[in-house]
Amino acid sequence: MAQLTARSLSLGYDKSTIVADLSLELPAGEVTMIVGANGCGKSTLLRGMSRLLKPSGGSVVLDGKDIHAQPAREIAKVLGLLPQTPIAPDGITVRELVGRGRYPHQGWFRRWSSEDDDAVARAMHATGTEELSDRPIDELSGGQRQRVWIAMALAQETDLLLLDEPTTYLDVAHQLEVLDVVADLNRRRNTTVAIVLHDLNLAARYADHLVALKDGEIYAQGHPAAVVTETMVHDVFGMPSRVIPDPVAGTPLVLPIGRNRVVRDINHDENAARAAAGRPTGTLPPVPAAAAAGEGVRPADGDDRQSGGDGVVPAEGAGLRPALEACPTLAYTLTAVAATTLSPSYRRVTFTGEDLAHFGTGGHPLDLRIKLVIPGEGGGVDHFAALRPDGRIADADVTGWYRNWLQIDPAERGWLRTYSIRSFRPAGHPGNMGGHAEIDVDFVLHVKREDGRLVGGPASVWAATAEPGDTITMLGPNANRCGPDYAGIEFRPGSARRILLAGDETAAPAICSILETLPPGMTGNAFIEVPTVDDIQGSFTRSGVSVQWLPRGSNPHGEMLDNAVRSAVAIPAAGAVVAGREPEDIDVDETILWETAGGGNQPFYAWLAGEAGTIKELRRYLVRDAGMNRKQVSFMGYWRRGKSEM
Ligand SMILES: Cc1cc2nc3c(=O)[nH]c(=O)nc-3n(C[C@H](O)[C@H](O)[C@H](O)COP(=O)(O)OP(=O)(O)OC[C@H]3O[C@@H](n4cnc5c(N)ncnc54)[C@H](O)[C@@H]3O)c2cc1C
Repeated sequence: MAQLTARSLSLGYDKSTIVADLSLELPAGEVTMIVGANGCGKSTLLRGMSRLLKPSGGSVVLDGKDIHAQPAREIAKVLGLLPQTPIAPDGITVRELVGRGRYPHQGWFRRWSSEDDDAVARAMHATGTEELSDRPIDELSGGQRQRVWIAMALAQETDLLLLDEPTTYLDVAHQLEVLDVVADLNRRRNTTVAIVLHDLNLAARYADHLVALKDGEIYAQGHPAAVVTETMVHDVFGMPSRVIPDPVAGTPLVLPIGRNRVVRDINHDENAARAAAGRPTGTLPPVPAAAAAGEGVRPADGDDRQSGGDGVVPAEGAGLRPALEACPTLAYTLTAVAATTLSPSYRRVTFTGEDLAHFGTGGHPLDLRIKLVIPGEGGGVDHFAALRPDGRIADADVTGWYRNWLQIDPAERGWLRTYSIRSFRPAGHPGNMGGHAEIDVDFVLHVKREDGRLVGGPASVWAATAEPGDTITMLGPNANRCGPDYAGIEFRPGSARRILLAGDETAAPAICSILETLPPGMTGNAFIEVPTVDDIQGSFTRSGVSVQWLPRGSNPHGEMLDNAVRSAVAIPAAGAVVAGREPEDIDVDETILWETAGGGNQPFYAWLAGEAGTIKELRRYLVRDAGMNRKQVSFMGYWRRGKSEM
């Protein structure tokens, strides 16, 4: 089996570098597919690896030897290449062209032989070109011609085959045929194959090894199931998508989400998937009023309404009840399965764990908040044992665990930090290939490096360095006790058909999650202020709500958001009618700004979240200047400049 490796390879044309310092080893005897957006350097890489393009740096090594230091004919005996737009000599027939594939095997002493005839016949048979045998190439259609070129590459019968977009011009049936031929060849002869393909789904289906290129660099490589994720598709192709298992092959199948599209009801689909998997759906039994009314996880303030045990260990003695029955909030043990830097300011961590079978409210998470327990120095003691799904808890401890947790030495107990669920994929969800449910949390990275050390809030530092395999405790709703009216969800538009969503980068995950659920008839605006242009993410909604990302750049935090809200809530367009009273002052350095409303029958509803000072200003404008009815607005200080969460 031939082994081809690129070592710190740099390639380009004239002075422009297309591929820089790239290292790649094609797994011997396997099919490698190289994918990426147009212009990312896929074809250049293939040309460099096949000796067609001389590197400006690094080397390509074939079976231990630099390919540029060996004669072309020697290389051609081992390595066959089909470039993207090959040119055939005038008037050449199909059979003659396929026969050219045998040239490297001939020489001064070895002339055309029956062995060559057999190789040509095999290649023509495999590509279905026998009946074209005597036709001149120029008379063929694009698809036929492509098959002939592939036949020529196959006739070369090399241990290594590199194909650049071999399915171009072919209809679907012939695309599959060509890839099947190559797959057969790989299996029969252990040929090492590398193919540049623009069809991501076919690439995922036929690849043993998938390489995703972005801007001349390897963004990800590995088994297609690991590489083809919604995040990869977003980052590499700049396209929001759904990734589900291909119902035919079981490989990842990318379903692009366009701008003008018909989107099915995601909640409905998720519930259907959950129902099919025997899991609770959106029609959970009614939730006891006490639990629904106030036992959510509140943001930053150590709210007494929090549920759970004493926050430390199960109380001793009689009267212990299973936490699953008693506690609206459970402590979930989660393991990170992926940690991906989405942009300069965001890192997404995907968590899973069997405990998640008990997580949720039965409906879409919307802006569902959870708390993560960022480990402190102490470690060792499980402060949340009583709240675990298999925990037992005294009735007296079901409320007040937070107060008790606060009594523990801060260095030992760690930090509780509030985050939104960006996505929740129950087991069996088409986008979840694991055995247990998965959640995504998008962390804003407000960290900097000082003396080689990352410095920032504990949660931000944890996220910046999180790796697959890391474990963490999360506090969130117990699906057995909580329904869609769970208090940890604030987005409550009631019967409003027009909405305003406004927030900074910390609110972006919640806003994007909310947008995904809005029905087509809903209109209004969503404004999301983020630090840089690169932090703009794909958001999708089938509603008529217009989404505007506001890259802050050097502007002060909140200024762009403030301007955008002021221009959108132009009286009386948003239902605000008369100027109102100055809202009572809230010292956002001492108290959390948290004023939520909802569920009413107003035509307009606003949801604003982010840095507390910014939200306070917006509150003043909307309540005092725009005279907005406070029953229509939720104001949430998600964090406060200069203050740690707790
Ligand atoms: C309901 C709710 C949902 C939230 N959802 C998310 C979410 O999905 N993603 C997310 O990233 N955050 C989210 N937040 C905000 C997050 O809880 C805070 O940013 C939190 O302070 C981060 O904890 P930390 O340990 O990193 O920093 P802390 O220890 O709390 O703070 C350390 C320092 O960092 C500053 N700081 C905190 N956050 C930021 C920031 N974003 N930018 C710049 N400086 C900051 C503080 O002012 C303080 O000076 C949410 C908050 C709430 C209440």
